[in-house]
Amino acid sequence: MDSRYANSIRTLLDRLVPPRLRHDALHLHMARRLVAFHLAMFFWVPVFGFVNLALDAPLSALILVGGGVGVFVSFATFWWTQSPAICGNVVGFSAWALYSALAAVNGGIHAPVLIWYASIPVLTLLMCGPKPALYWTVACALTVVVFFIAAISDYSVFDELTAAARQWLSLAAVLGLLLCIYTLVWLLNTMDLRTQRALREINQLLEVQASTDGLTGFANRRCFDEVFTSEWKRHDRALLPLSVAMLDIDFFKQFNDARGHIEGDLCLKAVADELRKGVRRPSDFLARYGGEEFVILLPNTSEVDAARLLEQIRGSVKMLRIPHPDSAISSYVTISIGVASAIPSQCGSRLDLLHEADSALYRAKTQGRDQTVLAGDFCVATV
Ligand code: GH3
Ligand code: MG
Ligand code: MG
Repeated sequence: MDSRYANSIRTLLDRLVPPRLRHDALHLHMARRLVAFHLAMFFWVPVFGFVNLALDAPLSALILVGGGVGVFVSFATFWWTQSPAICGNVVGFSAWALYSALAAVNGGIHAPVLIWYASIPVLTLLMCGPKPALYWTVACALTVVVFFIAAISDYSVFDELTAAARQWLSLAAVLGLLLCIYTLVWLLNTMDLRTQRALREINQLLEVQASTDGLTGFANRRCFDEVFTSEWKRHDRALLPLSVAMLDIDFFKQFNDARGHIEGDLCLKAVADELRKGVRRPSDFLARYGGEEFVILLPNTSEVDAARLLEQIRGSVKMLRIPHPDSAISSYVTISIGVASAIPSQCGSRLDLLHEADSALYRAKTQGRDQTVLAGDFCVATV
C-alpha cells in the first residue's frame, strides 16, 4: 500500500484511540487493531443489512442492525473503560448474540451464519487474549450443540431465507471466514514481528541505560571495564601501546559547598563536554569513573602522545573559566591528570596499568594539582 495512505489510515486510527492508550506502544498497537475492527464492522453491518433486505429477509436485516448497535456499544465501552479487554468481550458477546439470533430465525443448524461462529474465538483472541477466546469458544460450541439437538429432535425452525439466498449467504460466509483466517494469520505474524522488534528495542535501551552515566552521557564504570578488557586483549595481540588517563576535578567538594550541587552537576557536564571535544580519534574512549573522576582510554597511543593530548584537554577545561571561589590554586575550575601507558604483552595486567595511572593522578594532586603527571617507567617495556 502507498505509505501515504497507510500513514493517513494510521493517523485516523490514532485519533479514534482513547488518549491514555496512545502513550504506550503495546497498548497503542492493540487499540489500533480494535479501532480498525470496529471501523470494518461499521461498514460491514449496513452492507449485510441491505443484502438481507434485498434477499427479502427483513427480520435478518433487523437483527443485523441490532448487531450493529452492539458494535457501537462496544466502541463506546472502549472509550469509556479504556480497556481493550472489556471492549473485546463486548464485541465477542455482540457477535455471538448476532449470529445466534440469525441462526435462530434461519434454519438452526443449517443456517449459513453458523460458519461465522468459528470467527468469534478468533475475534476475542485478537481483541483480548487467550482466556476470553477459550470462554467464547465454549459458548459457541454449546450454542451449536443446542441447534444440533434441536435439529435431531425435529424442532421446526422458522426460516425466512429462500434456498437460493441461503446458498448465496453460505458461499459469502465461507469466503468471509477464509478471509478472517488469512487476516488472523497475517495479524499474528505482524504482531509477532512487532513484539520481537519492540523487545529488541527495549533490550537495546536497557543495554544503553545500564552502560551509560545519566548526567554526562559517558560510559559508566561497568562499561569501561568491559571496553578496557577487550582493548587490553586487542593491544596484547597487536603489540601496540595502550594509554590510560585518570582525570579528577580539583577541590570539587569545595566547589559544591560554595556553589551548590546543582551548579556542581552543571560543572561536571561542562567538563565532560570539554573532554568529549578534546579526544580526536573515534576509538578514544571516555567514561565517568566515579563522582568527579573520569577515565580516558587512548588506543595505540604512546605515553608522550597521550601526555600532549591530555595537556591540551587540561588547558581547555581551565579555559572554560568556570568560577571556583574556593579553589586554593586558581579562580577557575581545574583538573589533575595521571597518565600511564603500556604494551600489554610486555607488562603485568590491565589493573596494574590502571593503578599506575591512579598513582600518577595522586602525584599530580600532591604536587599542587592542575597538572598532568606521567607514570613513567611503569614496566620493562614502557613506551
Ligand atoms: P581533590 O582536589 O583532592 O580531588 O579534592 P576534591 O574535593 O575534588 O575531592 P573529594 O574526593 O574530597 O570530593 C569529591 C566531591 O565530588 C565530593 C562529592 O560531593 C562531589 N561529587 C561526586 N559526584 C558528584 C555529582 O554527581 N554531582 C556533584 N554535584 N558532586 C559530586
Ligand atoms: Mg577531585
Ligand atoms: Mg576524586
